[in-house]
Amino acid sequence: SSASPSLPCTTASRRPRFYVARAMSSHIVGYPRIGPKRELKFALESFWDGKTGVDDLQNVAANLRKSIWKHMADARIKYIPSNTFSYYDQMLDTTAMLGAVPPRYNWEGGEIGFDLYFSMARGNASVPAMEMTKWFDTNYHYIVPELGPDVNFSYASHKAVVEFKEAKALGLDTVPVLIGPMTYLLLSKPAKGVEKSFCLLSLIDKILPVYKEVLADLKAAGARWIQFDEPILVMDLDTSQLQAFSDAYSYMESSLAGLNVLIATYFADVPAEAYKTLMSLKCVTGFGFDLVRGLETIDLIKVNFPRGKLLFAGVVDGRNIWANDLSASLKTLQTLEDIVGKEKVVVSTSCSLLHTAVDLVNEIKLDKELKSWLAFAAQKVIEVNALAKSFSGAKDEALFASNSIRQASRRSSPRVTNAAVQQDVATIKKSDHRRSTEVSVRLQAQQKKLNLPALPTTTIGSFPQTADLRRIRREFKAKKVSDIDYVQTIKEEYEKVVKLQEELGIDVLVHGEAERNDMVEFFGEQLSGFAFTSNGWVQSYGSRCVKPPIIFGDVTRPKAMTVFWSSMAQKMTQRPMKGMLTGPVTILNWSFVRNDQPRHETCFQIALAIKDEVEDLEKAGVTIIQIDEAALREGLPLRKSEQKFYLDWAVHAFRITNCGVQDTTQIHTHMCYSNFNDIIHSIIDMDADVITIENSRSDEKLLSVFHEGVKYGAGIGPGVYDIHSPRIPSAEEIAERINKMLAVLDSKVLWVNPDCGLKTRKYSEVKSALSNMVSAAKLIRSQL
Ligand code: GLN
Ligand code: ZN
Repeated sequence: SSASPSLPCTTASRRPRFYVARAMSSHIVGYPRIGPKRELKFALESFWDGKTGVDDLQNVAANLRKSIWKHMADARIKYIPSNTFSYYDQMLDTTAMLGAVPPRYNWEGGEIGFDLYFSMARGNASVPAMEMTKWFDTNYHYIVPELGPDVNFSYASHKAVVEFKEAKALGLDTVPVLIGPMTYLLLSKPAKGVEKSFCLLSLIDKILPVYKEVLADLKAAGARWIQFDEPILVMDLDTSQLQAFSDAYSYMESSLAGLNVLIATYFADVPAEAYKTLMSLKCVTGFGFDLVRGLETIDLIKVNFPRGKLLFAGVVDGRNIWANDLSASLKTLQTLEDIVGKEKVVVSTSCSLLHTAVDLVNEIKLDKELKSWLAFAAQKVIEVNALAKSFSGAKDEALFASNSIRQASRRSSPRVTNAAVQQDVATIKKSDHRRSTEVSVRLQAQQKKLNLPALPTTTIGSFPQTADLRRIRREFKAKKVSDIDYVQTIKEEYEKVVKLQEELGIDVLVHGEAERNDMVEFFGEQLSGFAFTSNGWVQSYGSRCVKPPIIFGDVTRPKAMTVFWSSMAQKMTQRPMKGMLTGPVTILNWSFVRNDQPRHETCFQIALAIKDEVEDLEKAGVTIIQIDEAALREGLPLRKSEQKFYLDWAVHAFRITNCGVQDTTQIHTHMCYSNFNDIIHSIIDMDADVITIENSRSDEKLLSVFHEGVKYGAGIGPGVYDIHSPRIPSAEEIAERINKMLAVLDSKVLWVNPDCGLKTRKYSEVKSALSNMVSAAKLIRSQL
């Protein structure tokens, strides 16, 4: 073979001499593929722009894979995953593997190449992309398979076996990872034209033969292990779904013979019924559990864990950036060892490391102390190995000692704990925080003051962010632009945006958010208890990454954050100018959060900071304040049994921010999620005066909840057009949508607005679209 001679040799020569006793084994569920400096992102974007060719892209990808494998091999990880790399998304890779290409791409069979693959991911000039949605409760988005009874599945992408062989050529025996058939099907949606009630699981018989082909291929290539990711098992599956699960794996039994099989679950506890099903699978060698988020699974393991099977214990958190508390993990591992027996425990990560930042080595700006509390993916690999090794009598005492010093320093640091804030939160938890007057009464008081027309028009906050704006903000941060010049530039931008809105005839204005890079970062940078990385990127979808702030300490607001900007903007117009804030739940859900206190504690602290801001804005004469809770829906726990608790504290945190304002101050909120029918009662309970919501893709879905008779007495603005697309909606089309809404919503409560901020659009698009929106509102208004 074309084996690279360097890799195995390097590994062997690094083997420490005391490494004699058998270690507990170690395993990594999956690894980030974007690269420590987003190398894959830049390679993809340059390829898409036609600036570089296929070879360049493939080279970058191969180098990334090689360095990841090498890192794990050097760290002496026993079970190293392959096929966890992806050019875009692992669900899309599975769709390609199964040949489940939607008919609109006119695919004629054969191996799926880059053109088709990226068309499915991103669309092309003539065909739109496949839909994308959140991967469980993470901020990672996968491409949703579109399936129906007519799909002809076929083995159409050999990526899994190609990557396995690539690693083998480097001297590494890896564990190929596939998304399991159940998770794949249950995360799919019925294709367009297929009945909504179509049972996706009925396709199991059609996809399993393809899985069998893949398994045969992997075996032929020399694979000894296979990992099926089946995170769907942590959801509330019903009996028939669980039955289908065991049928599927029984069906594959003959193909699995000769392979060691790992079924990996993650993101939560496996419910008792699902656990039973899982344990009854004959063909499985090992089971993987998330023991960071799912501590109850240990109770199930205690009662029933089949003799001789391996337990992959996910004790190193794949979803956060904190250094592992090694001695606490040792205790957990010890407990497990006592239950399942020596050498049956494999130390692992709680889930794929895809959801954490890549490598702490590149954080040169973070202060030393804070850095000593953290571990990104590269460091977590080392932690997994350190834990495994300590069971063989080869415990790295120095490493464990330094780890416990770091843990202790974090626990006792005055940067982390602020007694006053802790006290405040303890107090607020005791009461309910509601505005003293009913929403209908408040709306009347507000209307007296604001005197808005029926169907008032507004926008969500941001206006297009030009390259110039981004540059000036960067230069200001780097202190290359003075305060005065910076303020002047932003002021001019506001003036432009205000003038445009006045010319268009919009009723409630926004300043356009020119001073903000990002709706969370802007606030995080001004609050204490937050830190920012230089390279802590996490893949969000495709080449898109986010760099979540790290909340490490108790949160306080040293000084007002938006009052200066909002007052400046309000002075530019006679019309009401919305003060614009990000809500506590969204700040929480889009950050790496503390693991040393419950999420809701942190959320309440942020709520108190935002409350101070709301009240300062009110004092400064801002009469409409919008508190965005774009990410409220996405924090919803996976398991139904935990959802109520979350919704209760999340909604409570929101109410804390604005329960203190006068009746005449109008509180808006905004949500980026149209699929909220199941949480409508919580949304009502937020008790905002006006809510604007994403509604771009289907009026029916959103409005059906009102058809069903849910009473919504507050103001509501379901987006009348999709800002994610460059398409300009016509006035007629918008008018038609407004009319549809009026069929279920009172004209007194309906607002007219786009479905989200305009940040990513061009001015030309924004002008035409808003102009049509205002015409539509005026037309319908005249017909009321
Ligand atoms: N106010 C923000 C904006 O307009 C809201 C963005 C969002 O909902 N994601 O950009
Ligand atoms: Zn939005």
